[in-house]
Amino acid sequence: MVNFQLLKFELLSSGLWLTDEAHNRILCDNKVPISARTCLANGLEIVLPHNIWVNAPIVPKYSANISLDFANYNFYLSNNCKYICQIVIPKRPSYYNKLTSNNIDMFKIGTLRGDRLSICLFKDCIYFSKGLQCKFCAIKQNTINEPVTKHINDIYETVSIAVNDVITVPNHIYLNLGTTDHPERGLDEYEIIFKTIRKVTNIPIHLNQSPPQSNSYVKTLYEIGFNEISFNIDIFNEESSAKIMPGKHADIGLSNCLKRLDAAVKYFGIPNVSSCLIIGLEDQKFTLRGIEELMKRGVIPKLSVFRPLCGSAFSNLERPSYNVLKSTWEEAKEYSIKYMIPLGPMCDICKLLSVA
Ligand code: SF4
Repeated sequence: MVNFQLLKFELLSSGLWLTDEAHNRILCDNKVPISARTCLANGLEIVLPHNIWVNAPIVPKYSANISLDFANYNFYLSNNCKYICQIVIPKRPSYYNKLTSNNIDMFKIGTLRGDRLSICLFKDCIYFSKGLQCKFCAIKQNTINEPVTKHINDIYETVSIAVNDVITVPNHIYLNLGTTDHPERGLDEYEIIFKTIRKVTNIPIHLNQSPPQSNSYVKTLYEIGFNEISFNIDIFNEESSAKIMPGKHADIGLSNCLKRLDAAVKYFGIPNVSSCLIIGLEDQKFTLRGIEELMKRGVIPKLSVFRPLCGSAFSNLERPSYNVLKSTWEEAKEYSIKYMIPLGPMCDICKLLSVA
């Protein structure tokens, strides 16, 4: 019998290749990967049985055992030609075909990732201009000419249409951005962006930014009204962090990030504060220490799987193995029981990129 949770990990690690039939069918009306982001979201979203979502990297034929095929009006997975299961590929939202009044494709303003509308407010990062960017990051990679910053009117129009989409509607809004030169690494415009989105929808809004300089700014973010917040640690071991994330490590570092997370738990409460750790770029024992450190504080760990992104300094590295993902998950579940803190994200569909 197939264990679909473990199948998810195999897909996250090894990816899948597409037969010509599957490839041609996906191009008709399914969601295709349309851009690269800082770490993960450049694969194909698929829904396994039991509503387990996964964002699977697409790899060349024969470099993965698992293939995706299409026949008799259904998509299905096979392992070395042996049938595994039927799967679903989400449809492309209809707003992807629409333009804002500034003539910008709405999918360049916000994309649907699982069931969250993801808007990258600043598709750049100060560390790139200094040559100190995180080596796994490809935020500046821009295959679709996505605007680096989004005009408030484009955000308003896109959110208005996306939350009423006839094909699929988002259940959350996820705002992210690279590190800015704002004193608190955020944006002056947060309040206006928040209020503009709130004119059209009440669904939760999650903000993911670099850890700010002060706890008082964490309070400001809470007072603006954001429902959830994340400040990512990414790499827990300080020595590895200095090498892999030179700018972020020097400016912020682990202890400051933990202080901001503590403040965030105080204001936003459990389970509304989360932090990513990347599996595959440091020894597993450090990732596990990071998981425990977060859970002790009431922060939800999100275990991202390293992906070698085109445009990043680590584009030639390997993804972590299935065994590493599985054993990290097994150990993390023990901590979950001990500290009564789940692995994130809290939404099952949003787990599509995470070991959870
Ligand atoms: S801080 Fe690192 S991961 Fe974040 S946007 Fe900048 S370079 Fe990318």
